[in-house]
Amino acid sequence: MNSFNEVKERADKVLCKTYARYPIAVKSAKGSRLWDFEGREYIDLLTGIAVTSLGHSNEEVGAAICAQAQKFLHVSNLFYQEEQVYLAERLAATSHCGRAFFCNSGAEANEAMIKLARRYQQRVKGRDAYEIITFKQCFHGRTLATIATGQQKFQDGFLPMPEGFTSIEWNDLELLDRTISSKTAAVLIEMVQGEGGIRPATAEFAQGVQALCRKHGVMLLIDEIQSGMCRSGKWWSFQNFGLEPDAFSSAKALANGVPMGAMMCTEEASKGFDFGSHGTTFGGNALASAAACKTLEIMERDKLHDRAGELGRWALERFRQVAEKVPGTIREVRGMGLLIGIDLAFPGKDVWLALIERGFALNLTQDTVLRLLPALNIAKDDLEAFAVALEEVLKAR
Ligand SMILES: *Cc1c(COP(=O)(O)O)cnc(C)c1O
Repeated sequence: MNSFNEVKERADKVLCKTYARYPIAVKSAKGSRLWDFEGREYIDLLTGIAVTSLGHSNEEVGAAICAQAQKFLHVSNLFYQEEQVYLAERLAATSHCGRAFFCNSGAEANEAMIKLARRYQQRVKGRDAYEIITFKQCFHGRTLATIATGQQKFQDGFLPMPEGFTSIEWNDLELLDRTISSKTAAVLIEMVQGEGGIRPATAEFAQGVQALCRKHGVMLLIDEIQSGMCRSGKWWSFQNFGLEPDAFSSAKALANGVPMGAMMCTEEASKGFDFGSHGTTFGGNALASAAACKTLEIMERDKLHDRAGELGRWALERFRQVAEKVPGTIREVRGMGLLIGIDLAFPGKDVWLALIERGFALNLTQDTVLRLLPALNIAKDDLEAFAVALEEVLKAR
């Protein structure tokens, strides 16, 4: 195809209209750069929504994918495969959770956690518990069970919702204490609400949630799909607060662009599943496992958690300077590591479009929040260029 217009026209005829797409058709991508069909270059601050954390077309991951593709892609979970073992061993070394279940997406990883929690409570603990408590503005995916966890806008037209999900105010420990009952199986939470506008939990809230889960004997499930894989400054964002959830979910950056999800859990929690209780055809196939294994190897070798933490702290400060220079335009700059939200004092569509026009690919969430999810190895100069452009755009308003 030859132009944005051609791609758009043909796409609009044959693809379901589920996405309000950006005015860009990507022709190629490398590192932290995207190029469109008109030859324009963009600094990518979105990385496919926190997926290509090592940058686009990463050569080492590409080589691992090619090598595996020539060995075999897929044989099914009926067979033992060394690729899955290498990956599970690497993942196990990143936290206290030593058991892995592999799947194909974030929503599926969360579904695995939800199913594990219910089955653990019902079969291992003998409790008639099924309720999953979540928090307003959370986002856990788009399957029926995962939309039942939260925001009403995602439920529109899809009623009735599966039962057993209760969503309560964020940051209210007393309310959580009152809401947990004998029917509660687990609390499911993001340490930084991503889609919900980059809202980091306070240490007090995060630690309080874990304490309440322990007190009531309910499981703590943490969604690390966006915040995990080194983005927060640690392997997993809960490690910033010293938490030890019973299980957590990963996806997005896990295989640097090859679709993959994982549920990690403790030895005790893993008793909830036994032979035949859960499964997937593709989950953790050799191709995805090889790509993920290489991704983890590079993150560890290059200490990308440390880099994300340091660069993230610098970026937060830098964007706060912009807020001071153009008073009244930015309500708050929030984040954890390279998961950054710039909350504007007004609906942000014009500012967002102006930034795209200037060659920055980024996302707008919750109407007012510019969301930045750059590659963990992005050049500091690219973030500096963005700060300069943001200041200009806000001044020109
Ligand atoms: C993206 C995301 C999901 C859903 O992942 P999919 O791969 O789109 O199913 C779930 N939770 C969080 C926090 C996410 O950011």
